[in-house]
Amino acid sequence: MSSTSKRSPVALITGGSRGLGRSMALHLADHGAGVVITYRGAAAEAADVVKQIEEKGGKAAALALDVGDIRSLDAFAGAVKAELAGRFGRDQLDCLVNNAGIGVHASFAETTEEQFDALMNVHLKGTFFLTQKLLPLIADGGRILNISSGLARFTFAGYAAYATMKGGVEVLTRYLAKELGPRKITVNVLAPGAIETDFGGGAVRDNAELNRMIAGQTALGRVGLPDDIGGVVALLLAPESGWINGQRIEASGGMFL
Ligand code: NAP
Repeated sequence: MSSTSKRSPVALITGGSRGLGRSMALHLADHGAGVVITYRGAAAEAADVVKQIEEKGGKAAALALDVGDIRSLDAFAGAVKAELAGRFGRDQLDCLVNNAGIGVHASFAETTEEQFDALMNVHLKGTFFLTQKLLPLIADGGRILNISSGLARFTFAGYAAYATMKGGVEVLTRYLAKELGPRKITVNVLAPGAIETDFGGGAVRDNAELNRMIAGQTALGRVGLPDDIGGVVALLLAPESGWINGQRIEASGGMFL
């Protein structure tokens, strides 16, 4: 894990209560990082992640966040600052993972403005402004990892609005890498393929036909599991990965090659 000092690094992962964020938090803690996760509604699940990390001797905290509520982000940044000082004895973060997200499945013709706005607020506007508000709290030499989706590279009917937001996150990643370079902060974007989580109503996990279809289009012959991504995140935030900057990395087992 990247650290700007000899102390244990501290990472903030948005949406760490369930799914991919939960696995990222557990993997990062296993690699020696202190972890701050956020949750929107799943407080009990978030507390369970913190407990699991603490039981293994790690340090973790959970904070409430609705990343799509832009006006709440200043107060959230204040809460992060307080948690860093109180629980970690630090005044800055080493890593930020912009992971929180929602899935909406609707054809282009039927996508409503409300669905579009919900996706935009969480995925694009949320990532943009949360990162902006947290900039003073990210240490020079730190890391930012944004989470996109394979759907920003290949097309799958029903995800036009969602993939449009992820495409924006990928462009934003390159601009952030450029503008934060003088502070030696790297910024990359990880694009997972389809993973079995609650995402989008748990369709990849619970719809056997969809699961089979995706497995058949994946070189490694199965859909992804959360730990496939948690491990990659720990790798991308490790000190040895520090020369990777401004890049899109896909972790999909080779989907739609
Ligand atoms: P998930 O299992 O549904 O978990 C979503 C997480 O995001 C939860 O921790 C949730 O918090 C949080 N969240 C949702 N809306 C939020 C909001 N408005 N503000 C703050 N937090 C919010 O989904 P996942 O599969 O782990 O997805 C994580 C990321 O990976 C997303 O960005 C998604 O687009 C991306 N992704 C997923 C897949 C896939 O197939 N699963 C593939 C490619 C990319 P609460 O539980 O507290 O509500």
